[in-house]
Amino acid sequence: MSFFKTPPLPIIIGLNALMACSLISCNPQSSQFALKTTNSTPEPASLTTEAQPSNIQTIMKTNEEWKEVLSPKAYHILREHGTERPFGPDYKKFKKISDGGFHCAGCDLLLFEAKTSFDSRSGWPSFWKPAQDQNVKVIEDLSLGMKRMEVRCARCDGHLGHVFEGEGFGNPTDLRYCINAGALKHESETQ
Ligand SMILES: [Zn+2]
Repeated sequence: MSFFKTPPLPIIIGLNALMACSLISCNPQSSQFALKTTNSTPEPASLTTEAQPSNIQTIMKTNEEWKEVLSPKAYHILREHGTERPFGPDYKKFKKISDGGFHCAGCDLLLFEAKTSFDSRSGWPSFWKPAQDQNVKVIEDLSLGMKRMEVRCARCDGHLGHVFEGEGFGNPTDLRYCINAGALKHESETQ
C-alpha cells in the first residue's frame, strides 16, 4: 500500500525540461551555448577573473542596511543574485532610452552607456562593453551546473547579470553583457 506514488515518467521529463529552460533563460542561444562553456578554452583577456588594479572604494553594507535603501526588486537582483523576467516593465523603460549612462541601482556607480547597448532580443538590456572596465567585476559562476561569467558592480559587489562571449551579434567585442534592467538606474534618475 503506497500513498506516495512517484509521478508518471512523462511528468518527470516535463518538469526537468521546464527547469532546464528556466535555468538558462538569460541566454537566448541556450543549450548550445551552455555546452560550449563547459569546455576548457581559456577565457579572453577581457573576461579575466583575476584581480585588476582599481581605485574604486568599495561599499559594504549588511543585508538589513541594503533592505533599507533598495526596493524589494533591486534587493532581490543585486543582493540575492536574482534574475528579473525578460521583457518586464524595467526593460520596457530601458528600451525607450537612447543616450546617457546607466548607473548601479545600489551605489550609483556608472556601469554602462546607452551608446554601447544593442538589441539581443533576449528581453534583458544588452551591452557590448562596460562604461569603464574597472567599474564591473567578472566572476566565474559555476552555479546551476553551468560555467557562466557573472557580472557584478565593482563598488557595492551587487549582482548585475552575466556576460556571454562569441554569440556572433556582430558588435565590436563579440561580448554580450546581459544585465537586469532592475539593477540599473539611468543617469536622469540619479541625484
Ligand atoms: Zn553598485
